[in-house]
Parts: sequence; C-alpha cells; structure tokens
Amino acid sequence: MDVALATAWLRAAADAVTADADLLTRLDSAIGDGDHGANLRRGFTAVVAVLDGSEFAGVGDVFVRAGATLISKVGGASGPLYGSALRAIGKALPPGESADLADLARALRAGLDAVSKLGGAAPGDKTIVDAYGPAVAAFEDAVAGGAALPEAAAGAARAAGDGARATTPLTARKGRASYLGERSAGHQDPGATSTWLLFQALADVTAP
Ligand code: ADP
Ligand code: MG
Repeated sequence: MDVALATAWLRAAADAVTADADLLTRLDSAIGDGDHGANLRRGFTAVVAVLDGSEFAGVGDVFVRAGATLISKVGGASGPLYGSALRAIGKALPPGESADLADLARALRAGLDAVSKLGGAAPGDKTIVDAYGPAVAAFEDAVAGGAALPEAAAGAARAAGDGARATTPLTARKGRASYLGERSAGHQDPGATSTWLLFQALADVTAP
C-alpha cells in the first residue's frame, strides 16, 4: 500500500458510493432516515477534492486527511464512524511512502477498533461492524496464509458482502434503526452495505 494506491482506493470508494447512492438511500429509508447514500456521496466527493488539491509525503497522511474530511463533511452517524476509521488506519500505518501487507492488516484492525470504540456496537448489532469485522478477519487470515494484496482484498470484500447480507434478519441495537426495535429485522443494514462497497473498491483497484 503506497500513496498512489491509497489515493486510487479512496477515488474508487467515491465512485462506488456515488454509483450506489440510491441503493444505500433505499436501505436507509427502510430502517433509518434515508440519507445514507447522500451522506457518503457528499463525504467522499469532498475526500476526492482534498486528494486533488494535496501532495502527500506519507501513505498514512492520505487516510488521516480523508478521515478528517469525512468527519467534517458528513452530519450522519456514518461520517464520524468512517472518518474515525480512516484516521485510525492512517495513524496506524508506518511513516513513509509505503506500507507492507502486515502493516495494512494492523491498520485495518485499528480502523475497526476505532469504529467499535466510538459507536459502541458489538458484532450482531446490525451496523458497520457486521461487515467490517469479517472483512478484517478475512484480510488477516489471507495475509497470515501468505496471500498477496489482491487476494487478501478480494477475500475481505467477499467477507464484507456476506456480513452485510447476514444483517438482514438482525434486530438493530445501535444507531437510528434501533429505534424501530424488531421492525428493523428483514432489512439489510445500510452501513454494513456501504462497508462492503468500500472493501469491494479496494479489491477492484488491486485486482490483477
Ligand atoms: P444516520 O443514522 O445518522 O442517518 P447514516 O444514515 O449515514 O447516519 O448511517 C447509518 C448507518 O450507520 C447504519 O446503517 C449503521 O450501519 C451505521 N451505524 C449507526 N450507528 C452505529 C454505531 N453505533 N456503530 C457502528 N455503526 C453504526
Ligand atoms: Mg441515515
């Protein structure tokens, strides 16, 4: 992972949340307030503007700046959560232009820890954590097994997608959807779905 790849990932993430903004909004309309697609499109569009106007000395700085941008531009719960994740990823990466796979695995884990700490959600609460957790675990397993980045990223994206789909029967215990209680069951979680899009974007930009 280097500055160019980090930048490419965030641009692909912006493209993905923009292309699927209607899907995210539809999911959030069912169990939230229908703004998740617009929130992420606005936030990642601002991230791309920051990337366009900046030079980065270190790969971690790319994520720290992107995270700070999401925190400042997105009012919904997801802005601070994804923003904190990206900042934590950036801060966990070693200084310098590039990081190795083990560094990236540790940084992705630090991002998940930041989401869990800020939002207080546990696995099964029908949140971002239900896609992010399995994605990080799959990434770590792949790296431990000697996989290269494309394979690790593809495994993480698959696990995130499975995790997002598995939120459908769950009752939300965190965030706006929790206000619905058991009526939140039967709908896929919007945040877990956008987490899948973000990992799929990494898989896409690293695919051979
Ligand atoms: P808001 O709920 O403020 O309208 P968004 O619609 O942008 O914000 O994001 C909603 C998503 O945020 C949910 O689908 C859920 O995945 C995620 N989310 C909400 N609260 C939490 C939390 N405490 N921890 C992790 N993820 C959360
Ligand atoms: Mg919402």
